[in-house]
Amino acid sequence: MDQPYPESSEDGYHTVSFYSFFKLDKDQLPHLRNKMQKEWADGLKIVGRIYLCEQGINAQLSIPTDNTRGLRAWLEAHHTFSGRIPKFNWAIEHRRAFKALHVRVRPLVSAGEPLRLETLSQEPEYLAPAAWENELRNAQDYGDKPLLIDMRNNYEFRIGRFQGAICPDVDTFREEMDVVRTLCKEREDKNAPIYMYCTGGIRCSIAGAILKSEGYSNVKTLQGGVIAYGKHVRSRTESATSSLYLGKNFTFDKRLGEEVTADVLAKCDQCGGPCDSFTNCANKSCNLLFIQCEVCSQKHRQTCGDSDCIERAQMSHDELIKNRLPPRWNYHMRVRPDKVFGKDGVARPEHQKHVDTRCLSA
Ligand SMILES: [Zn+2]
Ligand SMILES: [Zn+2]
Repeated sequence: MDQPYPESSEDGYHTVSFYSFFKLDKDQLPHLRNKMQKEWADGLKIVGRIYLCEQGINAQLSIPTDNTRGLRAWLEAHHTFSGRIPKFNWAIEHRRAFKALHVRVRPLVSAGEPLRLETLSQEPEYLAPAAWENELRNAQDYGDKPLLIDMRNNYEFRIGRFQGAICPDVDTFREEMDVVRTLCKEREDKNAPIYMYCTGGIRCSIAGAILKSEGYSNVKTLQGGVIAYGKHVRSRTESATSSLYLGKNFTFDKRLGEEVTADVLAKCDQCGGPCDSFTNCANKSCNLLFIQCEVCSQKHRQTCGDSDCIERAQMSHDELIKNRLPPRWNYHMRVRPDKVFGKDGVARPEHQKHVDTRCLSA
């Protein structure tokens, strides 16, 4: 049974994520991809991002309200997916979060190591939000400091995180696993609990399975991730200060985040004022991911402030095609505004500086 289907939406779309690990026939993947691309986009008017591979499916979608049940019916009518897709994980805030539908054949998560179903089947323990919260509060009450790890990237936890979490300062899941292994090795007891959370649960399912396959017996993850915890917090009547998670949940879609609590944990990358609204530089070949306040957005015309970016942001589509430029940053620089913004609030390659990898504690 799915969670109750959400009723309200800002614009008639509901946003949902789900993932599942099961064997898909490699030879069938292109056909399945084409079928889903056609039937979901044309028939069900779904937009979003789907990854298919031999180990399963990972999907983030916005669905017109009238078709939410249609998607579940489609899945259950298809022999490959019937009975294999667990509950839909509905978003905290509902509106259309993607422009189009992209179904791709590629790994579910870039783990940096080939994942096998035998590893993925060593699932960690999944704690529902209420149980997760109870265990963490109890541990604190007894004066324990449980190992609580934020499995997301640096830019994600900048705008929101669990209190007391270790937030490894990384840009990718692969780097995250290296830090996590070090953190776990530092403790002598392989049976001591390890608590992990991420956006919607898939990264923790994978990381938890890897750790279990390496001999850690007591790996606990937040079921449904921060999305599920956020809904848990927002559905109860007590004041939001009782949430163990503060701030926003970063999302990999146009919204770039949804609110769990009203706490603002971050600062505008351009002026330093309190702000937690992510944006991408309006110059597509720059596309820098950074936090920008309203005032700076107007001042720099929705760009990172670079004069080329301001100029290109005003160009028409045709002009941009004529004057095509290669990407301005590689991935690691594009998501690290702390490395490229100068004191003048403008991102420039010459501002690039080395930032030591470190663990930030919330
Ligand atoms: Zn600002
Ligand atoms: Zn820019």
